[in-house]
Amino acid sequence: MTDICTILNQELKRKRLKEVFGFDSFREKQEATLDAIMAGRDSFTIMPTGGGKSLCYQLPAVLMDGTCIVVSPLIALMKDQVDGARGNGIRAAYLNSSMRSDERSAVERQLFAGNLELLYLAPERLAITGYMEKLKKLKISFFAVDEAHCISEWGHDFRPDYLILARLKTEFPGVPLASFTASATERVRADIVTRLGLQNPLLSVSSFDRPNLFYQIEWKSGNEEMRILDFIKERPDESGIVYRSTRSKVDETALFLCKNGINALPYHAGMDNSDRKENQEKFNRDEANVIVATIAFGMGIDKSNVRFVIHADMPKNLEGYYQETGRAGRDGELSHCLLLYSPKDENIINYFITKIEDPAEKRRCMQKLFHMSSFCNSASCRRKAILNYFGEEFDKANCMACDICCGSAKIEDATRDAQILMSAMIRTGEMHPIDHIIDIVKGARTKRLAELKHDEIKTFGAGSHLSKEEWKLLFEHLCSAKATERISHDGNKATLTEKGRAILFGKAKFKMIRSARHDKPKIKISETPEHDESLFKRLRKLRKKIASAKNVPPFVVFSDKSLRDMSAKRPLSPFEFLEVEGVGKQKLEQYGAGFIAEIKAYLDDNPHIS
Ligand code: ADP
Ligand code: ZN
Repeated sequence: MTDICTILNQELKRKRLKEVFGFDSFREKQEATLDAIMAGRDSFTIMPTGGGKSLCYQLPAVLMDGTCIVVSPLIALMKDQVDGARGNGIRAAYLNSSMRSDERSAVERQLFAGNLELLYLAPERLAITGYMEKLKKLKISFFAVDEAHCISEWGHDFRPDYLILARLKTEFPGVPLASFTASATERVRADIVTRLGLQNPLLSVSSFDRPNLFYQIEWKSGNEEMRILDFIKERPDESGIVYRSTRSKVDETALFLCKNGINALPYHAGMDNSDRKENQEKFNRDEANVIVATIAFGMGIDKSNVRFVIHADMPKNLEGYYQETGRAGRDGELSHCLLLYSPKDENIINYFITKIEDPAEKRRCMQKLFHMSSFCNSASCRRKAILNYFGEEFDKANCMACDICCGSAKIEDATRDAQILMSAMIRTGEMHPIDHIIDIVKGARTKRLAELKHDEIKTFGAGSHLSKEEWKLLFEHLCSAKATERISHDGNKATLTEKGRAILFGKAKFKMIRSARHDKPKIKISETPEHDESLFKRLRKLRKKIASAKNVPPFVVFSDKSLRDMSAKRPLSPFEFLEVEGVGKQKLEQYGAGFIAEIKAYLDDNPHIS
C-alpha cells in the first residue's frame, strides 16, 4: 500500500518542481531534506551558499497543508526572497520591523485566514509576548530556520534574538523543524542541534565545494588598480564585488574605476547610512556593475548573478575569504574569484594582530594568517587547499577551475636565482638592506659597494639576467615562503631561515609562481549549452526593464542561468519556453510573451541565424 502512496508522492514532487520552479531535477541532497520535512521529521541541513537551500523548504511549503514559517535574521533580504517566491506563484509574505503597522496587519489577516503557504518571519517577532500563542491558532506545516548558526554563541554571527527559537520545539510539539546553515564547524553544529532541541533530526551535509567558482591568485606587482581595471574590462556588463582592506582604499579604487569608465560604487561603514543603502540597492538592481567595498559588505545581499569577486588585498583568514568569494555565482553559473596579495598586506595584518591583547586570541589569529599566507604562496590546487582546510577531502587530480589546475599560473623552479640572492646575503653578514644586496648581484659599480669591498664577493654581478624589480619580487617570495625572515621594521633586511639554508646548499628546491598569464580561463562548466552572447545581452536588457517596472531586482525576474539557457534554446512558443531552466507556470504566464517576442525580433534582425 505504501508503495502506491510513495510513488504518487514522488511524482507530485517532481511535477511541482517543474511547474513551480521550472527545474527538471533536484540537486544532490535537496531531496533528502525535503522528504524528511514531508515525513514530519526534524532536519539539519548544511549546504554551501548557492547550494539551493531555499528550494528545500519552499517546495514542501507548496506541497503540504498549512503555512510554512521561515525564520530568517536577514530582514534586508526578506523582500527579495518573497518577491522571488511570488514570482514562482507561491503565496508568500513576510513580517518584520521594517514594515508599517497597516502593512503588517494586512499580512496577518492573510495569514490567519489560511491564505499563505510561506511566511518569512524575523526572530524578534516570536519574542513578542503572546505571539507564539497567537501562532498556535494557525495550521503550521513546519518551521524552517535559516542561518541557524546565529543561535550559537560559538559561531561568528551570534544573534541573541535567535535564542527564542529554542522554544519552538516545546511550544509546537509535533511540528517539524528544518534548520539550515552554510557555515558550521563541528562545535557550532552540535550547539545548533541542542539549542533548537531537534529530535532525531536528519543530518545532511553537502560538500563545501563550489564547482562553478574559478579561483585565481596573483602577486600584486606594482599597480593593483590597473590590474583590477583590466580584469573588469574583460567582463563588460558583468556584476562584481571588489573587496579592499580599508575605507580609504575603497574610496580611491571606486573613484579610479569610475574615472576609467566603469560603473562602480563604494560601500563601507564610514559612509552615510542612506548612501550606503542606496549603493547596495543600485548594485542589486544591476544599475551599477561593480561595488567596491570593505568586508562590511555582503551580509545583506542575495544577488544571484555576482559574476566575480576580487580581493584586492590579502584577507585575514581563509574563513573570511571563502565566505566572501562564496557571494559569487549563487545561480550556479561560472564565476571568477581573483585574489591579489603581497607580503606588505601580510605585514599590515600581522601588525594589527600583535596589538591584540588576549594571548589566546592573538595566537588563533596568527595561526589563521599563517594558513592564509601559505594558501596564497602554495603552487598546488586552490580548491583542494581550501576544502582541506575546512576538513574536507578533495581527491580529483585536477579541479578544472583554478589557475594552478588550468595552467594559467606559471610555476617555475627559481632555485638557482634564490641561491644567488641568498648567497650574497650570507656573504655580507645578513645585515644589509635588500637594495644593497640587489646592487651586488646586479654588479653595480657604486662607491658604497667598493668601500665595503662587496664588489669582490663571489656572487657580484652573477644576476644581471634579471631586472631590479624581478630580484625584489624574488626576495618577497623568499620571505613569503619563509626561506628568509625579515629583521628590520621596514622589512628590507632579512636573514636566512633553516629552509633558506637548505635551498642555498642545494638540499631543497625553490619554486615560485613567476607570472600569471592574464587571459580569461577557457573553461566551461559542465553541461552549459553554447549560448548566443548578443541575444543574451538583449534579454538582459529586457529583464532589467521589466524588473524596474515591477520594482524588484533583475535576478528575481530570471537568473543569469535562465537567460543563458534561453539564449541557447531560443524558444518561440510557450511550450518551448517551458523547457528553459527556471521557467515554471507562473513565469511563463508573466514573462513568456515578452521574452518570446524579443527572441523573434532578434531572429528577424539576424536572418542568418536559423
Ligand atoms: P542558498 O540559499 O543555498 O544560497 P538558493 O536557494 O538561493 O541557495 O539557490 C541558489 C540558486 O540555485 C538559485 O538560483 C536557484 O534557483 C538554483 N537552484 C536551486 N535548486 C535548483 C535545482 N534543483 N535545479 C536548478 N537550479 C536550482
Ligand atoms: Zn585546482
